[in-house]
Amino acid sequence: MPSSPETESRPGAGSAPTPAAPPPVRSREDIDPRGRSRDRSWPPQPEPLPFPVIDNHCHLDFADGDQALDVHDHVARAAAVGVDAQITIGSDVEAVRWTAELLASESCPPSLRGGVAVHPNEAALHARGADHEGNPLIGLDEAISEVSTLLRGPGMVVVGETGLDWFRTSRDDEVARTAQIDAFRAHIALAKELGLPMQIHDRDAHRDVLDVLEADGAPERTVFHCFSGDAEFARACADRGYYLSFAGNVTFKNAGYLREALAEVGLGQVMVETDAPFLTPVPHRGRPNSSYLIPLTMATIADVTGTELEQACRTIRATTQQVYGWPEAVAA
Ligand SMILES: [Zn+2]
Repeated sequence: MPSSPETESRPGAGSAPTPAAPPPVRSREDIDPRGRSRDRSWPPQPEPLPFPVIDNHCHLDFADGDQALDVHDHVARAAAVGVDAQITIGSDVEAVRWTAELLASESCPPSLRGGVAVHPNEAALHARGADHEGNPLIGLDEAISEVSTLLRGPGMVVVGETGLDWFRTSRDDEVARTAQIDAFRAHIALAKELGLPMQIHDRDAHRDVLDVLEADGAPERTVFHCFSGDAEFARACADRGYYLSFAGNVTFKNAGYLREALAEVGLGQVMVETDAPFLTPVPHRGRPNSSYLIPLTMATIADVTGTELEQACRTIRATTQQVYGWPEAVAA
């Protein structure tokens, strides 16, 4: 599980030429121990995009790869291929604090914004008062109130990720289910109070997510991050005015249903993200992911929607700017 920023060792940290951003607080293997034997080399840089887009969901608090990249490295690599802005999401209490600290620091790259929330699986742990290793955690109300405070700080543009996850936490577990639903509702209220968009994490919980949104009333700008439904669910989301953000898994061979979902709704309410360091697009599936690999996902999005790549980038960028009210315009 996460080590604290103070104890994390980072090769080369002392000789970095750029001002230090806080070092990552956890690594991808903390979440997926089975991945320890995978290829941890960074994939090569793809062809740059003909028009810049924004990665609207990544996790820069995660370390990954055989070569340590810091926040400035990720931002520079992304910019080199036309991904000129990123939103980093803090989804457990350490990552929430890390994200707020990064955004408030002088060394934060100007092209970076963020969002925080108590992730649904974390909500279940806070309700029990302990993490997977049995280490004590603050209570759920306290965690949400910390999120509420930090969302008012500099650089925060979204409440997320929140929602429901019946994959990693069983729906039959009453404490976990209640905690997830309570947290989701609290984040919906927060997004409305702060006038911010909200990013939803929905894993095997499509119907319940829609029910909660309908019961409480969704925030004006509601984004299904890493959209995971089929064409019918995509249509249901689009009809309700929600946005669909596609990640690298839309390129996976076995994800025909995601391409059908995208083809069903077209580009109008669609955005692109990495969810890095996870969900690395084909042909580098399993290797580390970073915003600079978005061109691979954009190629699939353009192809599936029958759109020229440049037009697809322009449309997605305009949608992303509308949703987050940022960045204002492309320089040049
Ligand atoms: Zn995520």
